[in-house]
Amino acid sequence: MKIGVLALQGAFREHIIKLQALGVDAREIRLPGQLQDLDGLIIPGGESTTMGKLAVAFGLLEPLRSFTRKRPVWGTCAGLILLAERAAKQKKGGQPLIGGLDITVDRNYFGRQVDSFEVDLDVPVLADVARPEDPDGPFHAIFIRAPAVIETGPEVAIIARLPENGPVVAVRQGHLLGAAFHPELSDDLRFHRYFVSMIEEA
Ligand code: GLN
Repeated sequence: MKIGVLALQGAFREHIIKLQALGVDAREIRLPGQLQDLDGLIIPGGESTTMGKLAVAFGLLEPLRSFTRKRPVWGTCAGLILLAERAAKQKKGGQPLIGGLDITVDRNYFGRQVDSFEVDLDVPVLADVARPEDPDGPFHAIFIRAPAVIETGPEVAIIARLPENGPVVAVRQGHLLGAAFHPELSDDLRFHRYFVSMIEEA
């Protein structure tokens, strides 16, 4: 299985390391031609405006859009913003999005004062992929100037919310997965296993 990680900017190396730990052939993607033989793609965290502008400059925006229509893609943090159909409170034309997930995201939802935090999330779907060597129970999630999902369309499944029925922070719509936090920074392979399982079933 070959999984690409968009490597224009942001936390791509950490995703590569996690994928390699799962025995996946993981590749850094910077050029449109490199998308061709991938089974799936991760769009990492970083800065979504910068990543979007670089995608335009590298001629990647349209190739990423057509890849996203066909094959499994997982966006984490800034990557989730890029996979959203809509970003709230943004100037029109200010932020090129790839789209695909029928959601509205609010960038920097948690504001500046509490812009980074860690929290244990209940993520029921991870139980389906966990191995004996994995941690069990909640997923320890790291949020860094994270977005939240403030609207979900009818086809979107909510995978995780912050505790006490808080904002939505992970979603799935068919072959597309989004997480508002940074699973590649946690000492836990279960979220990456879950994405691999989506590719196996695709
Ligand atoms: N706040 C960033 C953005 O709007 C995302 C932060 C992250 O990916 N850690 O793009």
